[in-house]
Amino acid sequence: MSGFWRVLHKFCAATVITALCMVWSDNAFAGRITGLRIGQGIGSVRIVFDADSKFDYKVFTLSSPNRLVIDTQGVDVAPSVSSNRDDNIFVKNVRVGSAGVNGVRIVFDLQKPVLIKKAFMLAPQSNFNWRFAIDLEAASERDFMAKIGNSHAVTSNDYNSADVSRNDDPVVASKPAARSGKRKIIVIDAGHGGVDPGAIGYSGTYEKNITLSMAKELKEMLDKKGKYTVYLTRSRDVFIPLRERVKISRSHDADLFISVHADSARNRKAVGLSVYTLSETASDKEAAALAEKENKADIVAGLNFAEHSKEVSDILLNLAQRETNNSSAEFATLLSRQMSKVAKTVSNTHRFAGFAVLKAPDVPSVLLELGYLSNPTEERQLRQKSYRRKLGEAAVKAIDQYFQNPKH
Ligand SMILES: [Zn+2]
Repeated sequence: MSGFWRVLHKFCAATVITALCMVWSDNAFAGRITGLRIGQGIGSVRIVFDADSKFDYKVFTLSSPNRLVIDTQGVDVAPSVSSNRDDNIFVKNVRVGSAGVNGVRIVFDLQKPVLIKKAFMLAPQSNFNWRFAIDLEAASERDFMAKIGNSHAVTSNDYNSADVSRNDDPVVASKPAARSGKRKIIVIDAGHGGVDPGAIGYSGTYEKNITLSMAKELKEMLDKKGKYTVYLTRSRDVFIPLRERVKISRSHDADLFISVHADSARNRKAVGLSVYTLSETASDKEAAALAEKENKADIVAGLNFAEHSKEVSDILLNLAQRETNNSSAEFATLLSRQMSKVAKTVSNTHRFAGFAVLKAPDVPSVLLELGYLSNPTEERQLRQKSYRRKLGEAAVKAIDQYFQNPKH
């Protein structure tokens, strides 16, 4: 369970809102999905659900394994739907479970990469009652990967997206206890990219290239462990706004978010790795200055994220944030300790500041500054795969330790 839902649940259990929560979860479904039909075209497929009322929906895809997810609100699903065995070359193995307090999640495994062309309700006509149709078309793996997650969902106007934003299967969702056995989801964020080079090193190395190499290598090392599902916010040289990076980690329902950076300073002698977590008040002047510098990434590309900041002022989000910050700090301590064994670290390795990229209210997040590109020695080291490998191994150890705690 993500921090947010855990906190929301605690919040509900501990107050008079318990009664209100129960009213929500007892909410009877207004209608029912009664049937499922799948029509295969050339390079496309239409999935049709028959229903006795219209309903709100959200349709999106997920990777590893590739899935099509349909979240609905206000309807339940007839058992016959999940026993559908319509053979086709696009989707298979339909599963049905709960989604939020008033919804149902339907998941198909995908046989090939697809794009969601359209999703729409059709009003009753001649022999048909309400129908909900989803058109999929075959896509390249690359196009598929570019559109995965909640943020690319096709949604009906009235779908209450605050209700649910998970990435798991109903099979798991309907049995929360099974969650602990589930693979932990880690999102690694390679800082900067595209028009934004980040810091520029002593001999001209771009921070964006070091962070991308480190992120990819760390993902590979974690993948080899076979017990984590790891996503990158970018796997090539593209610009991604800071808010979008936060959204990506939330849409994957990440258990841990690590943003990778490398610093620079006017003083060429400045050296050492540091680990940052979010705080409204910075731990020191340098931390504040660094956060200000990293937060400028969006301005480089002509964007402004300030308008979104009220989103996190909501009281429940603040509650979730507090719990998330404890987890972030715990991981930052473990990471600092492991890193100090293999790399030069700054004093008080774990620092705090207001980094925009760390502001997912329900995902424990840290920002890792690998070292100073402005220092000739550290720049040379960070360009070496063997040095990054040592850093990666230390990070993997810290991640293993963090998830050994059943709380996470
Ligand atoms: Zn940076």
